[in-house]
Amino acid sequence: MAVIGGGVIGICSASWLLREGHDVTVIEPNGVARGSSYGNAGCFNPSSVVPMSMPGNLAKVPGWLFDPLGPLSIRWPYLPTIAPWLIRFLKAGTPERVAAQAEALGNLLRNSVGVYKPLVENAGAQALMRQDGHLIVYPTRHDFDKDAPAWKLRRDNGVAYTVLEDDALWRQEPSLSRTYRLGVFLAENGHTTNPNRFVSALADAFLRDGGIIADASAKSFAFENDRLAGIHTNTGMIACEAAVVAAGAHSGPLVHALGDRIPLDTERGYHIVLPEPSVMPRIPIMDTSGKFVATPMEDGLRIAGTVEFAGLTAKPNWERARNLLPLAQRLFAGLATSEGQPEPSVWMGFRPSMPDSLPVIGYSRASRDVIYAFGHGHVGMAGGAQTGLLVSDLVAGRSPRIALQPFSPQRFA
Ligand SMILES: Cc1cc2nc3c(=O)[nH]c(=O)nc-3n(C[C@H](O)[C@H](O)[C@H](O)COP(=O)(O)OP(=O)(O)OC[C@H]3O[C@@H](n4cnc5c(N)ncnc54)[C@H](O)[C@@H]3O)c2cc1C
Repeated sequence: MAVIGGGVIGICSASWLLREGHDVTVIEPNGVARGSSYGNAGCFNPSSVVPMSMPGNLAKVPGWLFDPLGPLSIRWPYLPTIAPWLIRFLKAGTPERVAAQAEALGNLLRNSVGVYKPLVENAGAQALMRQDGHLIVYPTRHDFDKDAPAWKLRRDNGVAYTVLEDDALWRQEPSLSRTYRLGVFLAENGHTTNPNRFVSALADAFLRDGGIIADASAKSFAFENDRLAGIHTNTGMIACEAAVVAAGAHSGPLVHALGDRIPLDTERGYHIVLPEPSVMPRIPIMDTSGKFVATPMEDGLRIAGTVEFAGLTAKPNWERARNLLPLAQRLFAGLATSEGQPEPSVWMGFRPSMPDSLPVIGYSRASRDVIYAFGHGHVGMAGGAQTGLLVSDLVAGRSPRIALQPFSPQRFA
């Protein structure tokens, strides 16, 4: 078996397949977890059932686009390329479709931390995974009330939460600015204190247990008598009878090579890490007013978020990362940036994004020997282990453990 891509999705898929007795080679040209899986906010959130395209979002877009600290930006030359994706995105935001997407995400993300456990324990990586909960905070109750549709989706999909106001909130998270007066605590959510080390630890266990990681880039597929015979790479052919495409936002050319047309694009995201912050939250906090997450990590306080539509080749706009800092200072009043403190580091990653917020998990049109597992957008860490299990179900020809129709590669035909 070959797995194309050494991000969280590829490594989880490869790990489960190895445990089922397959010989598995991961094909990865850039080193494990150097893509989107490197610098994300690290959250394993079963509560992330709310699709990105929600009813009413269209009205908010102009405000977001023209605010330099806003959560959304677009490079205008990229607009003609992304326009069809954006149209699909807006069409995905009807109440009926949103309810169906949330249900599918609920199934994918349920018990995220628990589903990872066998892999994490096998890798001895327990110290990198925590389940201390997550806070979603709002300046006022009015802001929380305006977000009622999102909370209904979470409730409808079995997400348990507790609303905390004023003193109760500030007791839970003393670092919060007192201008945030309502928070929702989600006890089941977890996080990793280092996404890169977390995925790398799973990859090390995969290698120790007999897996192979080939330093190569997949180019196309070789078929013989309608069966997969191997994968052409930049370093030659890798023979295999089945393959998983898990190349994240870069999966497009491989999909095209198999004759599928799937609207995969990228929502670029940024982070800034303060190595020695004057304030450290106890658990990850999502700020709904700035649409970013502040996560306590082993290398400092990571502020991650923003969506930038600019494709896979445009240079990063580091202002997007630096603009996260004033937002974090609004969230944590005591967060000082002064002379003499170590320089914050910045990063940009390519979320592999589908217009309906659902990943693609299923057989390619050309052959059941090639399975797709990409397009996880904002939830690849949370859904990584479960996606790997679903891939192993498909490889085995078993009935998948959750309904896979919403994730079908053919749903856009
Ligand atoms: C700012 C930010 C914050 C985020 N926060 C969270 C969060 O808190 N929780 C969460 O669940 N998700 C989060 N995400 C999303 C998450 O990071 C992604 O969904 C996830 O990392 C996708 O994993 P992947 O394995 O599909 O892709 P990647 O990690 O990008 O891996 C794909 C791999 O494929 C390789 N590849 C590409 N082309 C080829 C080829 N031709 N041949 C072989 N290999 C190839 C690449 O080198 C890469 O290593 C965040 C993302 C960003 C940007």
